[in-house]
This record gives sequence, C-alpha cells and structure tokens, in this order.
Amino acid sequence: MTTNIEDKILHGTTTVGIKASDGVVLCADMRASAGYFIANNNTMKIQKIYDHAGLTLAGGVADAQNLTDILRYHANIHAIQTNENIPIRSLARLCSLVFHQNRGYPFIADILLGGYDRDGPELINIDQFGSVEQKSYVTTGSGSPVAYGLLEDEYRNDLTLEDAKAIALRAVKAAIVRNIGTGDGINIATIDKNGFQLLTKEQKNLSFRFSDLMQKKQQQELPNSQNIMATILTSIPKEANVTKIDYEGPRFALYTKTPRFLMENNTIISNLVKEIKKRIVIRIDESIRKNEDDTRKILIENVPKEANLQAMFFDTATGEVSIEVKRPWLCQRNAEEFNHAEIAEKTGWKPRIRKSTTKPSNTIKSINYQLKISSSDRVKHLKQVGEQIFRPRLAQKSEVSLLTLGGFGQVGRSCMLLTTPDSKVLVDCGINPGARTPRESFPRLDWANITLDELDAVVIGHAHLDHSGFLPVLLKYGYKGPIFCTEPTLPMMNLIQLDAIKVALAQGRTPMYADRDVFQVMRQAVTIPYGAVTDISPDIKLVLSNAGHILGSATCHFHIGNGEHNFVYTGDIKYGKSMLLESANTNYPRVETLLIESTYGLKEDIQPDRQEVESTFVASVNSVLKEGGKVLIPIPAVGRAQELMLVIDQYMKSGDLVEAPVFMEGMIQEATAIHEAFPEYLVRDLKKKILETDDNPFDSEYFTNIEHQDGRDEALRDDSPCIIIATSGMLEGGPVLEYFKNIAPHTKNKILFVSYQVNGTLGRRVMDGARQVSILGKDGKIEVVSINCSTERLDGFSGHSDYNQLMSFVHRLRPKLRRVLVNHGEKRKSENLSMSIRRMYKVSSHYPQVQEAIKLF
Ligand SMILES: [Zn+2]
Repeated sequence: MTTNIEDKILHGTTTVGIKASDGVVLCADMRASAGYFIANNNTMKIQKIYDHAGLTLAGGVADAQNLTDILRYHANIHAIQTNENIPIRSLARLCSLVFHQNRGYPFIADILLGGYDRDGPELINIDQFGSVEQKSYVTTGSGSPVAYGLLEDEYRNDLTLEDAKAIALRAVKAAIVRNIGTGDGINIATIDKNGFQLLTKEQKNLSFRFSDLMQKKQQQELPNSQNIMATILTSIPKEANVTKIDYEGPRFALYTKTPRFLMENNTIISNLVKEIKKRIVIRIDESIRKNEDDTRKILIENVPKEANLQAMFFDTATGEVSIEVKRPWLCQRNAEEFNHAEIAEKTGWKPRIRKSTTKPSNTIKSINYQLKISSSDRVKHLKQVGEQIFRPRLAQKSEVSLLTLGGFGQVGRSCMLLTTPDSKVLVDCGINPGARTPRESFPRLDWANITLDELDAVVIGHAHLDHSGFLPVLLKYGYKGPIFCTEPTLPMMNLIQLDAIKVALAQGRTPMYADRDVFQVMRQAVTIPYGAVTDISPDIKLVLSNAGHILGSATCHFHIGNGEHNFVYTGDIKYGKSMLLESANTNYPRVETLLIESTYGLKEDIQPDRQEVESTFVASVNSVLKEGGKVLIPIPAVGRAQELMLVIDQYMKSGDLVEAPVFMEGMIQEATAIHEAFPEYLVRDLKKKILETDDNPFDSEYFTNIEHQDGRDEALRDDSPCIIIATSGMLEGGPVLEYFKNIAPHTKNKILFVSYQVNGTLGRRVMDGARQVSILGKDGKIEVVSINCSTERLDGFSGHSDYNQLMSFVHRLRPKLRRVLVNHGEKRKSENLSMSIRRMYKVSSHYPQVQEAIKLF
C-alpha cells in the first residue's frame, strides 16, 4: 500500500501563491516525480477552474485531476444559475468538502486556490485534511522550505501583481536549483479583474536556464556535495570528534568540541583536501565557546608579554579571534609559550595572530564592527553561498562565453560576464571616472540582459575604482550573492569606495550609493588567499594570484568544468618587482585563453629601469633639500605612496638621500596601515621585516603624519627643507592644494610628479609648464597661484607593466596558449599589443570592444 501511494504522489514539487493588491499569482514547477524518479517533466501543475479562479496541485496526479473536474463543474453550474462567478470562498469550502469525504484516502497533499471575485483577490490554502486557510503568501511541496525563506524576506502587503510575479518566479526558481525533486521549467498564472491568465512567455524566458535540465538523466544522483560530506565523515578519525559539517561559503567547515586533535595533526586535513579537492576549515563547536570577557582574560594571560598585545577581535560568525600583537613572531602556531591548539581547546575560540599596525586602521576597525553586528546574517549567507556553489551541476558539457561589459578598448569601468550553462559570474565591476554620460561611465549590464539574482558570484581583482567602483550599486539594487576577492582588497575597496562618496559630495554631485551599500559589500564578501583553489559555482573554480599592481591585486584563473577550459584574466599587472610587491605570478598549470591589460600597450611605452628611476629620484630630491627647499609630491593614497615611503626610508637610512622630515597628509596613513595589516601580501623582504623583526620601514622615524590643519605650519615653516607627500595625486582637491599654494611661488622648491596626470587636470597643467594657475579657494573665491618653483615628472614608479613587461609576461607563461584577448587600454594600445603578441608568439590574438560576446570554448 505504502509504495503504491508513494508512486502516486508528486513529491518533488514547489508551488507558490502570492496575493497582491490587485490580483493573485500562482506559480509552480513543471515536473511530476514519484520519489526522486522524474515521471514526467512537462506537467501542468496550475489548473484553470473558471475565468476568475485557478489552483495549483501538489499530490497524486489522477486524484488532482478528479478534484479539478468537480470544482469546474460547480463553478459552471453556479455561473449559469446566478449569472455570477462563484465566490472563491465557496470554491474553497467545496474543495474542503471533497477532501473531507475522502478522508483516509491519500488524496492530494495541498491545494492553493487563487481567484478574484467581488471582494477582490483571494488566496486560500486547503490541506489534505480539508482545513481551509486564507493566506497572503504560501508555498507547498518539497521545495517549499527554500521558497519560503525568500517569500518571508520579500513579501510586503502593498505588492503589485507585477512585483508578486517576479517574487513568485524567484522563489520557485530558487527551489528548483536547490531541490533535486523539483524542476524542469516554471508555469505561472495571474488572476485579476480581467480574469485567469496562464503566462507562457515567462516560461520561455526562463527556459534557457532549464534547457539543460530537460536533457539530463532521468534518474537523479546524490548531489555531489553529499558525497563529499560522506567522504569527509568516513576519512576523519573518531578522535577528531566531528560534531557537524556545514558550508562556510566555498569551504566545508568541520565542527569539533576537541579542536586540539585536528589542529595538532594538521596532515589529516591537508591530505583530505588533496583527496576531495575542496577547501576545509576547522571550526570549534559553539557549545564549548567561552564568553568574550573570559576569553580576553585567558588571552591576556597567555600571550607572551614581549609580543605586546594591542587588540583582540572576536568574529562570532566563524568563532575566530584575531589577536593583534606588535611582535607576531613570538606567537607562532606551535610556539611553546603560545600554543594555538591549546588556546583553542581552552577558550573555544580559534586564535589568529595578526601584526598590529603602527597606527590603528579605522577602516579595519569599522569593518570589524560591521562583521560583528551582522554576524548571524553572515552565518546564514555563508551557508546559502555554499549551497549554491555545491548544488548539482545540470549541464553535461561546458560551454564558456565572455560578454564584454566595460574596460575593452578603453581604461575604466572594467567589467565582464563569464557564462557557462550552469553559472554566471561577473568579473570586476568598475566605473569610468573620466566619462561624461552614464552610458559611458558604467558597465553595460543593461546590454547583458541579466537580473541580479541570476548572478552566481562577483569576482573583484583589485580595489581601484575602475575595477570595483560600481559594486556598491549592484548591492544597492539587490545583488545578494557572494563577492570574491583577496583579504586586503576588502579594506582597500572600503576605503576607496567611501572616499568616492566624499569626493562626489565635495564636488556637488549626488553619490551613486550610500555608506550602507559599501558596508553591505563587506558583509557579502568572501575573501580567499592567493593560490587557494576555490569553488565559486557548480562548474567554476577560481584561483587568485599576485598581480603586483597594488596591495591584494590579483590575477584571476578560472578553471571551468572538469578543466575543459582555463581562462586567466590578468587585471592590472606589474610584471617587475618593486620595493612593495612581488612581480606578477606567471605560473599557471593551464591557460587556454589569456585576457591581458594594455595600459602601456604601445612600443614606445617603455619605463626606465627601476634602479635608474630610484637614482634619478634621489638626485632630484637631494638637489632641492641641499638648497634648503621643499619637495612636494602629489600622490594617490594607495600604492604609490607606500612605494615612495619605502624608497625614501631606504635611501635616507643608507645616507644617499639627505635626511629630512617627511610630512604626509590625506588618506596615506590609513592606506599604509592596511598595508601593514597584511604583510603576507607584500614583497618577501618587507614581509619578513614586518612579521619577524622590529624594523618596520612604515614605522620609520622620518615620517610624520599630519592629522590636523595646524600641523601644516610645521611642514611649511620657512627655511626648513622637507619632503611633503599629500593627496590627491593630480592636484584635483585634497590637502595637497594647501601645500601647493604655499610651495609653488618659491623658486627653491620643487613639485615632483610620480604618477600619471590626466589631461585637463590641474596637475597636468602644472606639469606641462603653466606659470600661473587659478584655483577655487574654500570660501568660494578664486585664488591665483604663481608657479616659480621647478617641476619635474618622474616615470617608472608605475604599478602597471610597460610594453616590454607585458610582452615578457606573455612569454613567461608556462602553458601553451590557445588565444589571447587584450583589454584595459586605449584602442590603439590594445590593438598594438594584440598585434605584437600575434606576431611574436604565433598565437591567435584580438582586442574586443565593449558589448561583444565571445565564445571561449
Ligand atoms: Zn588598477
């Protein structure tokens, strides 16, 4: 009997009903299944009863048909006899009666009845026992737990029918993706004052996503993720006491009450990772977690005094405690004085040692605060991200396309969409600060014709605005998925995106997004270290590697399908070592398609040799300091400023550069603190210095940060030679202007330009030799500044590769390339680089423009 019933019932079904202000939506997937066997993948689960009423079925097909016939019959009779449509509530009572009479017989699991009568829209749920309940929104069937979460979040009582349609579709779609019993397309019907309407158009629009599902095997396999969890459970020794396995974004988190065992025997985890090729993290079961105050006491007692404990941050979402110390080398993982495993067992918190920065970073502090207050949301989010990533693959074969949405044939608004049958990933999401119209300023997401909930992931290569400046807008408009980037990219983006709001306001423009959208970026971010192979969707793995451009900048290696296609996107790269960062990584196991930047893509775009640049810099600065003058260096806060600090510190220490105070103002100190917080991402020698010695060059005695306007007096005092480094880099606002007004009129001073000056900026005019410029003062008055000091331009500190470096980067790539694409450069630069690569390396190469769709595989 039981098997018989099982066979009849529609197990895998998701139906959704929503009552809007002007009508009702009924929505359901199209597959009839018995157990997990797909019986028929074209089942109509929405039935019209009469012009003003319809219902959804979840249950035995034959029985449901029978019920529909009964209801239709009565609706007809009622209309004929009274000349009026039968009230929806009467239909519901009738339905309940039929169920009641058939009690004990496994009739139908659930009915959603929707309609529009004299009283307006009506949505009623009738369960198998005949209970009748009026609803605003409701979902039934095996996918309902998934759909329900979405409905709860999005339902409002003032929804229009159009809104309700979109929400219902999303809810059923979400259930289809996550529930193996539900699937094969969606039907949707609306009922309003104009009557019942089954919408086949939506069904067509969605079908591209489900077309692969139609072709796949009839018998479902266990989702891959369940196999992985089973493998983990059988491979982990009993002593590990694993209490739970759960997703934490792209990783599998193993919870244990005795963390010591796995932490001390770390080969167990590393072997397992090799076997299952998934990332695993050890987490401590919350039940043994001590409260923060007690843990703080234990840590204060246990952290060696000489390590100099500065701060602690408790991340309740992960159960990790970041411990910031001045001397991290005294708290190594297995240090006798501070054993991590022991501390974990004692406190229930997993310790993570961090180098404290010279000055505390406000950015990191505020991110920590955001993480703290969103802790429970983040746990949920990470779990959902994991469920999405490890959902079963639908497609059998890999097809890979690239849609160019911005940053092709131009510098600015870098953005592209990588699509496979199973996933859609947005790579970079920048703005074009130089553009005049919105069409030119923002990525062409409109052209890509995607909705934000279709995106599986956003990957951000580095923090510059032309790569990340549009991201907060995506979140403002409802992107809910993960953002993958490196750990330092997160605070760098935060700093830069918040600053963009300030700049917009200062210039009298309306910012595109608010602070809260920037903080939402932090909450949805999933950071991954260089080199870690990370699943970001069912058929795409991502590896980020050092790009050498700015702190945390990454090349993105997408490994698609079972390795059928490997796509490497360089982002902005520096193939050449600097004092700050290592040279860009060229070691990729396989690359079929390479997408490379071409900022300096012309043959004549050659930067002087690094050693030469430094000597020129030293000589140039010395000549001014020796005469008692001041050197003003306008500079962008991120990257170049830190590079210059290192150069100055090293040459002053060696005696080559005249010792003089170095004053800094603007966001430089904050950006420097972020560099200090992530020494793992810096060039090897510097990392060693910061992590293993007291000799931190960013903490050099030469540097004075000016936090207040009063501090400027000291820097500007007559007859005291000094170096002043201030933002912004092109003299377009920021504290540098105040210095400029004072320094420019005096012949013994010098203004030194080490970064690119865009046409039309004040910086460019001064660099090109203007002897008099007028600038807008704070009080709105125009001030005329005479430029009597010398000016000099010094190339070679660039964070970009020059032409030769770009060519050698391609040359050094180990694997055989099938194709090269060139982007991120003025058209003629991209064209030239593309041509050079084709000629020199005999590989197919082109330079697409914005709004092209390219089939990669
Ligand atoms: Zn950049």
